[in-house]
Amino acid sequence: MLTNRSKLVVKKEMTFLERMYLPAILSGVVITIRHLFKRAATVRFPEKTREISDVWRGQHVLKRDDKGAERCTACGLCAVACPAEAITMTAAERKKGEENLYREEKYAATYEINMLRCIFCGLCEEACPKEAIFLTDRLVETDYSRNDFIYGKDKLVEGVTERIDVTKRQTPEVLAFKQHKQLSHNK
Ligand code: SF4
Ligand code: SF4
Repeated sequence: MLTNRSKLVVKKEMTFLERMYLPAILSGVVITIRHLFKRAATVRFPEKTREISDVWRGQHVLKRDDKGAERCTACGLCAVACPAEAITMTAAERKKGEENLYREEKYAATYEINMLRCIFCGLCEEACPKEAIFLTDRLVETDYSRNDFIYGKDKLVEGVTERIDVTKRQTPEVLAFKQHKQLSHNK
């Protein structure tokens, strides 16, 4: 015996009523009839869709700055903050002539998020000191292979000409909070 938590299970003899099964069947029918008059917990998707909030956390985006350079500096704070250990990256040093590609001297050569591990808590966004990662209102698409849910920079970094709007997540209150002198952010 490995532990003392084992429990002896005794096979109880069924009573006459239990052997008839009728009371159990009747109580099942009563439960079914009761549910007929209750509000349905499901919707007829895709004809009907549920109403969702204006602001919610969907697929991440790695942002570029105004000039089109990647903001992420591969500091790893998002990965440390992630409770699901969904983020991995490798850092590289920016070479001369790459200033238009990467904002800082260090950048993420690879950056991956495992969307099957992610719980969309938003802590990576909160931890980022460079305003580089945001959760957006885009759904993570369904797929057949687990490997296809590991999103790399090709899916995460926004296009130079196809910017992803994150203003809903940068409300005046959030921006004011980030400018707080004692909580200096995005330096
Ligand atoms: S949203 Fe949460 S779980 Fe998902 S990558 Fe960011 S920190 Fe990790
Ligand atoms: S996304 Fe932000 S927190 Fe994560 S590595 Fe890049 S700069 Fe650091």
